[in-house]
Amino acid sequence: MPPDARPRLTVLSGPSGVGKSTVVAHMRKEHPEVWLSVSATTRKPRPGEQHGVHYFFVTDDEMDKLIANGELLEWAEFAGNRYGTPRGAVQDRLEKGEPVLLEIDLQGARQVRESMSDAQLVFLAPPSWEELVRRLTGRGTEPPEVIERRLDAAKTELAAEPEFDETLVNTSVEDVARELLALMDVV
Ligand code: ADP
Ligand code: 5GP
Repeated sequence: MPPDARPRLTVLSGPSGVGKSTVVAHMRKEHPEVWLSVSATTRKPRPGEQHGVHYFFVTDDEMDKLIANGELLEWAEFAGNRYGTPRGAVQDRLEKGEPVLLEIDLQGARQVRESMSDAQLVFLAPPSWEELVRRLTGRGTEPPEVIERRLDAAKTELAAEPEFDETLVNTSVEDVARELLALMDVV
C-alpha cells in the first residue's frame, strides 16, 4: 500500500460544549463503520452515559495503573478529571487498515502530534464565544463552577487553533459531520 493510502488517525478537538460528541454521533448514525476510540476517564458518568460505550469509567487507582503500565496512547487532566486513550485498540484498528477517530482535548492532541507524525488534527470551533457559552450552559450537565473551569480551558483551546491541520466551524451539525467524513476519506 503506498504511504498516502494508509488510513490515518484523525483527532477531533475543540472546547467543551462546542458540539464534538453531537457531530460524532450524527456522523456515526450514517456511517457506523467509522470507529471511535473509547477513552478511559475518572469523571463520573452523566445520565445516560454507559461504561464501555461513551467512556470506560475508572477509579483514580485504575487510571494510575493504566498510565504506569504504558497502556495509554496519550492522557491529560482536564477540568479536574483525567482522560486517556487506550493504546491497544487504536493500534489494532490501524494495523487492520481501518480509519481511527479520537475525540480528545488539546493536551492529548499535542501528544498525538508528537508520537504519530502522520496524524490529522482537526479543530472544531464554535460560531462565536457567546454561542459556546450558550451551548455549554444549555447542555445542563455541569454545575456553574465546572462550567467556569471549562470556559477557562476553552480560552486556551481557542488560542491553539492554528496548531491544527484543519478547522471546522460547528454551525450546522450535518455540514460538519459531512466535512469530517471527507477529511477522513470515508466518503
Ligand atoms: P462537546 O462534546 O464538544 O462537549 P456536545 O456535543 O455535548 O459538546 O454539545 C454541547 C451542546 O451543544 C449540546 O446541548 C448540543 O445539543 C448542542 N449543539 C451541538 N452542536 C450544535 C449546533 N451545531 N447547533 C446548536 N447546538 C448544538
Ligand atoms: P467530557 O467530560 O465533556 O466528556 O470531556 C471533557 C474533555 O475531555 C473534552 O475536551 C474531551 O474531548 C476530552 N477527552 C475525552 N477523552 C479524552 C482522552 O482520552 N484524552 C484526552 N486528552 N482528552 C479526552
